[in-house]
Amino acid sequence: MSLFRFNALKEVLNRQPVKIAWNESLVSDYFGMKVFNQEKMKKYLSKEAFKAVTDAVESGTTIDRKMADQVAQGMKAWAIENGATHYTHWFHPLTEGTAEKHDAFIVCGADGGVIESFSGTLLAQQEPDASSFPSGGIRQTFEARGYTAWDPSSPAFISETTLTIPTIFISYTGAALDYKTPLLRALNAIDVAATAICQYFDKTVNSVNVNLGWEQEYFIIDEALYMARPDLILTGRTLMGHASSKDQQLDDHYFSSIPTRANCFMQDVENEAYILGIPLKTKHNEVAPNQFEFAPIYEEANLANDHNQLLMDIMQKIARRHKFRILFHEKPFAGINGSGKHNNWSLSANTGVNLYSPGKNPKSNLQFLTFVINTVKAVYDHQDLLRASIMNASNAYRLGAHEAPPSIISVFLGTELSKMLDLMEEAVVDRKMTPDEKTALKLNIGRIPEIILDNTDRNRTSPFAFTGNRFEFRAVGASANNASALIVLNTAVANQLNNFKEEVDQLIDRGIKKDEAIFQKLKELIINTKPIRFDGDGYSTEWVKEAARRGLTNTTNVPEALSAYLWPESRNLFKKLGVLSETELEGRVEVEYEKFIMKVQIEARVLGDIVINHIVPTAVGYQTMLLENVKNIKEVFSPEEFDELAGGRKELIKEIAGHVSALKRKRKEMIEARKKANIIENVIEKAKVYDKTVRPFLEDIRYHIDQLELIVDNERWPLPKYRELLFVR
Ligand code: ADP
Ligand code: MG
Repeated sequence: MSLFRFNALKEVLNRQPVKIAWNESLVSDYFGMKVFNQEKMKKYLSKEAFKAVTDAVESGTTIDRKMADQVAQGMKAWAIENGATHYTHWFHPLTEGTAEKHDAFIVCGADGGVIESFSGTLLAQQEPDASSFPSGGIRQTFEARGYTAWDPSSPAFISETTLTIPTIFISYTGAALDYKTPLLRALNAIDVAATAICQYFDKTVNSVNVNLGWEQEYFIIDEALYMARPDLILTGRTLMGHASSKDQQLDDHYFSSIPTRANCFMQDVENEAYILGIPLKTKHNEVAPNQFEFAPIYEEANLANDHNQLLMDIMQKIARRHKFRILFHEKPFAGINGSGKHNNWSLSANTGVNLYSPGKNPKSNLQFLTFVINTVKAVYDHQDLLRASIMNASNAYRLGAHEAPPSIISVFLGTELSKMLDLMEEAVVDRKMTPDEKTALKLNIGRIPEIILDNTDRNRTSPFAFTGNRFEFRAVGASANNASALIVLNTAVANQLNNFKEEVDQLIDRGIKKDEAIFQKLKELIINTKPIRFDGDGYSTEWVKEAARRGLTNTTNVPEALSAYLWPESRNLFKKLGVLSETELEGRVEVEYEKFIMKVQIEARVLGDIVINHIVPTAVGYQTMLLENVKNIKEVFSPEEFDELAGGRKELIKEIAGHVSALKRKRKEMIEARKKANIIENVIEKAKVYDKTVRPFLEDIRYHIDQLELIVDNERWPLPKYRELLFVR
């Protein structure tokens, strides 16, 4: 066996689970220990500073310099007491992952020594050297400055020895250069829109919060095997590898007992997460071998998303202690399940009511139905934008393949809720309803609670499913920043709620009673949105045909999917709701196209190198051995015996030669295709050409490598095989 691969396997077999430092205390005793939360704020801040922060969080008021200084002093005192030596503004640039630059608290003191110092100015705003973050041309180099500004709605925390302050990241001109800024704007838009709707039903509602509960899927790979796969190291996925004879056919991994080594890693992650206030709740084995999931208790969406980004970071770091590597790539292995990040999403009013939970009486149920039906409409109208928000080079491999949602966006409502909508559609007519009709409808609406709560049927194949008290957007990729999807979803729903309000108000102005106006409009929406509602098997080929008949769109082509961002209606939507200006939108779409190009380019380069440095030499070496063998047979045996003894060998030599020359030829062609694509200036055109002329080589070349893997001597094969990556542990 190739020494490299052999050593890697040997190392794995000698591994012991890394014992974790068992925490003796209850989780509830140390949860949020390193978070500057309400409890710490009360202790370390003056009453007025505490109030300034809580007001800022609850009603979006600004914190003035004087208060910011007070908060900074309190934060510093707490952080230093807890071992912090540095502080950082932590933000979500348009790359994958988060950014941070650590500064020590020290400043020069009077006597040549240093003292610890931190001020409101440093807390509130900083100017990191931002010229190397992607901006899609928003930030020309002559005004390369970017600012980070404190987001008080997500509490500061101590990561290792650094006080970490969640911030937004904007350009000198105030344009958003990150995910958080537009997310906060979208959350604000939906707060305003949903509050106005709630007012129809309950005058005491004055704000609405978005909740997010993400489910993070991931693969764990042993470090030694990972290190023996250049494709994993550089691209996060296997660019080659023949399917293992056994993988997930037997469904013997899903929910089975968690392997001890993996569980030790998870316990360490949980420990750290609890200290940082991330409420991890669930862990389990996923469908594919070595695939797992973490899910927390849901939280306010901005905080939940910060926690997701933070957790991904923690997981990567802790994995190393356990000699693991984490793969967040959406499709690290061909032919088996990929990884997603289901976004469980709901709205709740300041009264504590979940707007997607059926209520106890007709009034609250009408509110519930109003939110459900308007959400369906928003998804219907903006299916392409929703797809654009989750589409990228890696998720494109997952969508529609192996138990992943298709790239057709549809909504699952379940039998009972669908029946309810059918009933409303029949009952409400465009004339005044008789009192009896109204009573009957209200009675029916009043019956929802038991029905739904008892019958939350699950459809795992839907990309956007109602699951009893929330919607679950399942098309989001495992490596993605949730904000991308949340920005679109919340903006689209906010816009729809605004439209609905406007239309209902018009009817009311014409003298129609409020309830009836709402019924009428809901009926229109129910009829209008029928094509997007689908409760059947989203993985089936019939659905692809049926969806096309219904006029639903469907594409896994990344450049095409992304183009929906630039449609006039998308530009208007973001502008109207104040979520993204046209410049900001164009900037980030350009970044998406650039990311796509670079990912394909990197994969093509890595694959080309592996072909020439690993695969061809291995195959040729084996071929030479076979040739020697044939020659020797010829020397020893008579011509009649030769054919019988070496015939098969000759075929094998030819087969290997065929694949080797195909690999060499295709590699050259792929390089040529890249050269041609690289001179294109316009990123959209370039992305299209990369997609059309470079990306297909990845599959094409892989085919020949995987065929060689099947016939070349196992001893010589240099790269850990699927069966080893997935089963040796
Ligand atoms: P599943 O059965 O879909 O795997 P889980 O119980 O694992 O569901 O959790 C799904 C996620 O949904 C969790 O993060 C949970 O906190 C979250 N969740 C539950 N209720 C709501 C809600 N009303 N709004 C948003 N998220 C929710
Ligand atoms: Mg779920």
